[in-house]
Amino acid sequence: MSDSEYASSDGEDSDDEVPVLTQDVDAWKTDLEAAKKIGSSLQDATRPTGCPVCLLAFAEHLTTDKTNVRGLLTHVHSFWDGCVAAVTRPRSKNAMRVLRAAMQRNSNECDEGEHSTSDDLASQFLDAACQIVYAGLAHIMSRASQQKRTFSSLRHGYTLWPQTRSELFPVEPAEAIAALISCAEVVGRTSGYPLLVLGTYMMVARAQVLPVFMQSAALRQRVVQVVADTLTNASSAPTRAQPFMSAGLFLYALREGPGAKPDDPLDFVIDFKDILFPALCTGFDAGKSNTTDAVGREYFLPALRPYILRLHAVMRLPVASLPLTIQPEVQRNYKMQFVNILYVLLGNISRTRRCAHKRCPAPDAGAFKTCSACHLLRYCNVQCQRDDWNGRGYNVKHKDVCPLLARILPTADPDGPELAFIHAYTAATANFSVNETGSLAYYAFEHELTPLELKMRFMDMAAEKGGNVPGFQNPFDRVALT
Ligand SMILES: [Zn+2]
Ligand SMILES: [Zn+2]
Ligand SMILES: [Zn+2]
Repeated sequence: MSDSEYASSDGEDSDDEVPVLTQDVDAWKTDLEAAKKIGSSLQDATRPTGCPVCLLAFAEHLTTDKTNVRGLLTHVHSFWDGCVAAVTRPRSKNAMRVLRAAMQRNSNECDEGEHSTSDDLASQFLDAACQIVYAGLAHIMSRASQQKRTFSSLRHGYTLWPQTRSELFPVEPAEAIAALISCAEVVGRTSGYPLLVLGTYMMVARAQVLPVFMQSAALRQRVVQVVADTLTNASSAPTRAQPFMSAGLFLYALREGPGAKPDDPLDFVIDFKDILFPALCTGFDAGKSNTTDAVGREYFLPALRPYILRLHAVMRLPVASLPLTIQPEVQRNYKMQFVNILYVLLGNISRTRRCAHKRCPAPDAGAFKTCSACHLLRYCNVQCQRDDWNGRGYNVKHKDVCPLLARILPTADPDGPELAFIHAYTAATANFSVNETGSLAYYAFEHELTPLELKMRFMDMAAEKGGNVPGFQNPFDRVALT
């Protein structure tokens, strides 16, 4: 793994100017001193020396007044590093007791006077550190989400935090992720910041984060449980960071972050669908009826909706089990035909910047060339194209579908509106033979970019016509159908 695999600060962004001191020099000096002090108080992550109540106050300050965040990102790496170390450090039960005692003592001895609080100060400390990490990563996070790509971290002449992968992962990614989930569990429903950090990590460092989760059902279950709890409590929780946003961001990052593949979200949550689905519906209804938080609703509901639809399809539940406002959409899905599935698949291929050869050794690597006949499939080189043409990796060879795609795609645009695609497809395929239509169907059925629930719809369609799809392994064997 190299540092260039994760999204980071990048000199290409024109906003990235070396921070100048703000108008308010005194405010800057105050923040700078506070950050330096916190940075050194976090040197020993086992026994941090700072006061958790004051840390939380500073976290709130940086969240509400972002004026000096950029300056601190440039000048005080120890501050951000210390907060990352605090929240990514694995802690046993005993270590948590040590931390709790240290925090209680630090708060009692704080120079800022007497803090009267009955809260769990260890959880307050972890929560505050998560809030700071989230504030510090906002700049690379928004670019990762907007530009859908990762960045090289090595291009700019000044030093905006974070610079290297190890600044995000002071311990092994698997340990860091587990520690962050522990933070979320400890902080519980009082704040969404640990989950926001997890979502941000997923967005900016997917290449490190997703494999950790996919190799551990236990970690997936724990984070899905946090998301589900957050959603279930969404309407009532008296929280600092809107829980809506934290669950929504995590689900969004999993589905839409740079390098996301269409089935990543389902693969991630499918084993825990019975926990997640009801929570998604509860959270969706709560978000819908929340009339005060318009911004939250704007991001939150679209983040949940695709999970609800896809899980509902895979679980084969009745329409009545869905939130009322989503039901009409599903009625439409039930009428879905092959052309709708093909529209989704070709759109996914067109938007996925990977080598189309299934056995390509480095599918994300290169500058791609497009097949000169169909103008759709991308390959890194002639060898990949030749292998794919002759069908290595798929049952359907590209040479069997390329001429068909070449007849469809000049008029039917999978990146355009669906209805226009359907009309153009119908006209272009009017003279297709049964074999030609069959090849196209097999191609769509076995393609990894065809979403799982659409393949299931495909099976249903075949069954409705009294047939099956011969010679193909059922891709849903891994899904326990209910
Ligand atoms: Zn204090
Ligand atoms: Zn290739
Ligand atoms: Zn082609």
